[in-house]
Amino acid sequence: HGRMHSYLRISITENCNLRCTYCMPAEGIALTPKAHLMTTDEIISIAQTFVNLGVNKIRLTGGEPLVRKDAKDIIQRLGKLGVELTLTTNGILVHDFIDTFKEAGVHTLNVSIDSLQEDKFNQITRRNYFDKFWENLELLDANGFQLKLNVVVIKDFNDDEIIDFIEMTKDRNIQIRFIEFMPFDGNQWKKDKLVSYAEILSQVNDRYSVENVERLTDKPNDTAKNHKITSYKGSFSVISSVTNPFCSTCNRIRLTADGKLKNCLFSNSETDLLHNLRTGKSIEPLIFQNIKLKMAIRGGMDDDDKFQNPELFSQNRSMIMIGG
Ligand code: SAM
Ligand code: SF4
Repeated sequence: HGRMHSYLRISITENCNLRCTYCMPAEGIALTPKAHLMTTDEIISIAQTFVNLGVNKIRLTGGEPLVRKDAKDIIQRLGKLGVELTLTTNGILVHDFIDTFKEAGVHTLNVSIDSLQEDKFNQITRRNYFDKFWENLELLDANGFQLKLNVVVIKDFNDDEIIDFIEMTKDRNIQIRFIEFMPFDGNQWKKDKLVSYAEILSQVNDRYSVENVERLTDKPNDTAKNHKITSYKGSFSVISSVTNPFCSTCNRIRLTADGKLKNCLFSNSETDLLHNLRTGKSIEPLIFQNIKLKMAIRGGMDDDDKFQNPELFSQNRSMIMIGG
């Protein structure tokens, strides 16, 4: 489909210190035995192969990447590969990583927060880390990291906070990224819980009036539709994988914590790179094969009926096992 894949997202753990309802199934997940997970050396070796093939950006994710015991070592070693290195984190442990991020050349971080209200934050994460989250966000800000805040918008849960989030961009140069709620195995997705890009924008236009809402130019391969309120320092964007998939410019590939390559967040087929690596075989042919099989749109779920069909989306892993 003419797409160049230069951005690798590596999940380094399936574990997490939060239990977000839309990510982690209520009954929890059966964790993959440690022996089946990539070791630090294996992560670096696979990442190096991708870099040799042209990958120039790596994002660490999970689960929560910072709960992994050797996360510092992984970040430091990936920092030496000469790529743009970044992470998606829930922020709860970042106080322990400030120096590591700086030494590894991490400049930008995506931090997830779905509510600015303590009771709702606790409800969605099923944990009580609200104060720690804010303390750490301020710490990242004070240390000069460029911050993007990921907000999964869910109808009748936090769609009344869209404007409150945008108001955070008034005096701070941060980006708020509203993410359309996506269906995955066990996350109780329902169409009526979805708040679409169009609905988000309509709320924003009503509040600020259309002439004050600027549509920014998106970067090539950007999944986000970028906007800002004129005169505000920061910006906001919408990741509309459900209502406006951005597959035609997708440059992403994903490696799960157990060493499987997924060519799309929504694909239900995977290629086991770790097995070949452990048996001393080259993983390059598998990488090419996997990417050639990438479907044009959302793992083959190319229309709304397929995308919203639980029989199809439940053949995929839950988000916590993929790495968002
Ligand atoms: N633990 C880290 C965090 O929460 O930022 C990284 C992993 S998390 C799976 C990555 C991102 O995926 C988070 O911003 C999370 O909100 C988002 N996410 C998880 N499940 C989702 C879903 N069903 N729909 C949309 N976004 C989702
Ligand atoms: Fe953990 Fe992130 Fe999933 Fe929340 S979204 S349960 S923080 S992995």
